[in-house]
Amino acid sequence: MNQSDLEELYQQVILDHSRRPRNAGELPSPPAIKVHGDNPSCGDEIDLFVQFNEDGSLGDIKFSGQGCAISQASASLMTIKTKGKSRAEVDALLKAFHHLLNNHEEEPDEILGDVQLLQGVWKFPQRVKCATLAWRALEQAIADDASSTEVTTESPS
Ligand code: ZN
Repeated sequence: MNQSDLEELYQQVILDHSRRPRNAGELPSPPAIKVHGDNPSCGDEIDLFVQFNEDGSLGDIKFSGQGCAISQASASLMTIKTKGKSRAEVDALLKAFHHLLNNHEEEPDEILGDVQLLQGVWKFPQRVKCATLAWRALEQAIADDASSTEVTTESPS
């Protein structure tokens, strides 16, 4: 795929997911873990709800909130990729996602699917936080067994 095709696809996927976010909504918390994510540099906010199965896999995941197209699209893409996945698979996705944004000249990891397109945000450093917000919230949900917690892109990762 050449560069202009890739950019067109990037625009299409971002617009599609920001207009019609998948897995939008809320889950009862508890038992779901709720993480409020905040990206003050852009004004993006997200409430992420993660329902873990007993084996640690992600039984269900939903999000609500408001923000720019990239933050919403990234959250939508993230929920699609992680829903129903085992803990090890989610860990691998999180790792691949961070690698994607920090190594824009490398071929993305195929496990990311459409999430690969978010690699395009490296050209807009302020937008990297928008793309990262939902993923930071998921990391927080996994790391913290509290039923409600918060994360911000302004804190060290
Ligand atoms: Zn944003």
